[in-house]
Amino acid sequence: MTVLSADAEVDLAIYDEIEALKRREDATILAHYYQDGAIQEIADITGDSLKLARAATGVSSKTIVFCGVHFMAETAKILNPEKRVLLPDMLAGCSLADGCPAPRLARMQAELRGEGRRFQTVTYINSSAAVKALSDWIVTSGNAVEVVRDRVPSDQEILFVPDRHLGRYVEEATGRRMILWDGACVVHEVFSVTELLRTRRRLAGSITIAHPECPVNIREQADFVGGTEAMLKYVESIEIPADILVATEANMLWRLENDVPRHRYHPVPGVTCACNTCPHMARNTLEKVRDCLRTGAPEIAWRDEFDRAGGVLRRSLLK
Ligand code: SF4
Repeated sequence: MTVLSADAEVDLAIYDEIEALKRREDATILAHYYQDGAIQEIADITGDSLKLARAATGVSSKTIVFCGVHFMAETAKILNPEKRVLLPDMLAGCSLADGCPAPRLARMQAELRGEGRRFQTVTYINSSAAVKALSDWIVTSGNAVEVVRDRVPSDQEILFVPDRHLGRYVEEATGRRMILWDGACVVHEVFSVTELLRTRRRLAGSITIAHPECPVNIREQADFVGGTEAMLKYVESIEIPADILVATEANMLWRLENDVPRHRYHPVPGVTCACNTCPHMARNTLEKVRDCLRTGAPEIAWRDEFDRAGGVLRRSLLK
């Protein structure tokens, strides 16, 4: 038997197989909202980075299968050293994390210190553990404004890495000037403002929501800007069915349609196509979820930098 989920036919037998393996391996499946709907369907917990990082600390099973990208599974391991954390595809990376290698960040920090500048490094969670270990604060799109506004000492500058668009958004929201690392997400950077305006003309009265990883020209056109968890809350608050244009990774539309089906959701087209899916997230498949449970691999191994990164993560996200 097969079922249509997202744009692919899914063999239902694999769901039973995964359920059985989950019981056998004492595992909990966590999935990010940017995963294919078929994967979100089998997850015990779905969420954005902040929700999943927090949820990972409350999991009672011995194993966590993290359906997301590498830095997310790494974060779950850092916060749960005693648990086995499996990532269905170890090559599921992230353009933001890849664009900010720890040695380059360490060099930049040393240069700024050499100039006599006093600063705190505020790091988006989309980064490697080695980068987190060089940081003073870790933020997500869900708590960045709050952390910068309420917790980063106001007598110091801020070096914000690695997403310049999120950094600029936080700068605008808090009024704190920042030194921005020149990184961007490959998915959120390619939305077309021309196509957005064209779609809006076609759908009179529509509402636009955008992720803060989007460039400012997209954010300026949005009625609401927020991370994926905030997007969900926002559309839930709209009582009357509406056409909602969504500027974030395309699989988020599955979550929105599933949780708040009274609205009609439309992806904001990209510059070259309308398929704004994250190629890294797409590496995970149901088959790979099943196989990692079968074999216990690939597993996130403990690394030295996890100790220091863990302290920063706990202080930033869990307190
Ligand atoms: S959507 Fe962008 S920020 Fe998120 S994992 Fe993919 S590349 Fe990284």
